[in-house]
Amino acid sequence: MDKIKKRLFELLYPKRIKCCVCGREGKESVCSTCLSQLEFIEGRVCLKCGKGIDDDYDDNVCPDCRKEDKHFDMAFSCFQYKDMGKIIIHKFKYENCKEVACVLARLMHQRLADEGIELDAVVPVPIHKSKEEARGFNQAQLIADEIAAAMDMPLWNCITRTKVTTDQFKLDKIHRNLNVRNAFCINMLYNDVKYKNVLLVDDVYTTGSTVDECSRILKQQGVQRVFVITAATGSNT
Ligand SMILES: [Zn+2]
Ligand SMILES: [Zn+2]
Repeated sequence: MDKIKKRLFELLYPKRIKCCVCGREGKESVCSTCLSQLEFIEGRVCLKCGKGIDDDYDDNVCPDCRKEDKHFDMAFSCFQYKDMGKIIIHKFKYENCKEVACVLARLMHQRLADEGIELDAVVPVPIHKSKEEARGFNQAQLIADEIAAAMDMPLWNCITRTKVTTDQFKLDKIHRNLNVRNAFCINMLYNDVKYKNVLLVDDVYTTGSTVDECSRILKQQGVQRVFVITAATGSNT
């Protein structure tokens, strides 16, 4: 009964939350006005990495993915990592706005809804322990938690980051690949892989080196298909 009363109270008096970007009150930690300023990825996208491709480009796979084979099967993303997209991600990661995870997870869940992908588990991209201690949380895991709950799937936190890496955005493409090479391992607790199709979750996709390296070790471990979902994607390929 108490639960029903509580629910009724919430319906009658919905909690007002301050938007972490503009401070306006609303239902979510990013208000609808700020969300409407995101540049969503629409139209033609690369069938491998999910980045937008020009209408007059005569291939379904972008030049970057043509050049270099990726270990994951397909990647999807919601919005461009620039302007409002960048502001929201920065608020989330560097200004301790943890609640943004719910908003991002909702967008990511919606992005996947029409794809009809068969999945068995949700895997977050890990950050190194020292970074997690400094920041207080792993942003990818917060989002992955929400997505797993929304999709009613197990969260499989099976990857460990073993190397402290330089932030990817500070490096060029070749150094990004080297930076994350052998930076991860499968947590020994999960050596006995039981999931075939996994959804790898991260906040931002830039060159894809990080999710690619995670996909490589997941497949080495017996996972058959790896799909990647990120909130934002860069367009610097
Ligand atoms: Zn706002
Ligand atoms: Zn691509």
